[in-house]
Amino acid sequence: MNKQYDALALFSGGLDSILACKVIQDQGLKVLGLHFVTPFFGNPEKIEHWQEVYGVEIMPVDISEKYIQMMMDVPEHGMGKLVNPCVDCKIMMISHAKTLMKEFGAKFIISGEVTGQRPMSQRPPVLNAIRNSSETGDILLRPLCAHSQPETAVEKSGLVDREKLPNIFGRGRKIQLQMAKDYGFSEVPTPAGGCKLTEQENAARYFPLLQRLTKADVNSFQLATTGRQFWAGNKMLVVGRNRNDNERIEDLYEVEDYLFEVRGFPGPLSIGRAFCDDEWTQQDVLDAAAMTASFSPKAVKSGEEIHVAVIGPEGEMIVKVMPNRETSFVRPTLDGLKEWKKERGEQNS
Ligand code: SF4
Repeated sequence: MNKQYDALALFSGGLDSILACKVIQDQGLKVLGLHFVTPFFGNPEKIEHWQEVYGVEIMPVDISEKYIQMMMDVPEHGMGKLVNPCVDCKIMMISHAKTLMKEFGAKFIISGEVTGQRPMSQRPPVLNAIRNSSETGDILLRPLCAHSQPETAVEKSGLVDREKLPNIFGRGRKIQLQMAKDYGFSEVPTPAGGCKLTEQENAARYFPLLQRLTKADVNSFQLATTGRQFWAGNKMLVVGRNRNDNERIEDLYEVEDYLFEVRGFPGPLSIGRAFCDDEWTQQDVLDAAAMTASFSPKAVKSGEEIHVAVIGPEGEMIVKVMPNRETSFVRPTLDGLKEWKKERGEQNS
């Protein structure tokens, strides 16, 4: 049997999620932090560090596939300014936490949300909608703003002393920063946990996939999160920026992909992937090889044609190209995002 806890907490690694755990631990209760992981957020390699620095037990929970499916189906509460389905995201995490309660003997769920802190996703009606849709009316405790929230069963029973909980409201950060100081945290993270879906450049990487995919393809979103990304029609080219990216690209390689590697000079590894049953032409392969070679400074400096090894579905070949970034592959943009959302019948979040 798993170790037992009083509460399961949504633990993003942001300051509010940490403080929410601490104020409940202060009441002598055992808390397990759930660190949700998708291609867009989550940093499981930091768990050990967080455990040490903040004294909270944490476990990773990968929800990638069902999260992507939710984004591909129209999220019930729509997306924010970019491709961030914040309300449905919260509902999914809280609902998932609820399914784990029995396993860990938990009596309630904690979330670090603060009423009024975010203009859209933490307004009182939205917090109510999250509570209602996740069907956690009596078990979802938001300890940082409990006083402006309905009393939960654990407060009514006295397991949690509501009077000892802070009463934070609105966008200010003063109270949270003072609390971090009082707890003696050696590191004070940003309020939220960092989410790529709210960042312009990253959202532009995911938008072409959302437009083209018909199934929740976790690998492609992981690939879109790696290296530099370019698109030519329905073909994506991902070029590694460093050794980590190159290793990641090798890990994510699938049999239908093209892999490009500069020969004779140090350079990046690239992966090419087609969507919507599109196929690579000889020109696409040459363009992707030229683009890959253009990110090898020594190859560019040589001023000569460069050999690039290409591993594709038909086997391995060597092509000769001049390094070149003026090809059919261009950076993805968010052009057409509004229209796409409208076409999907998405409501404004
Ligand atoms: S910012 Fe990202 S992680 Fe946070 S609620 Fe929105 S979609 Fe979810």
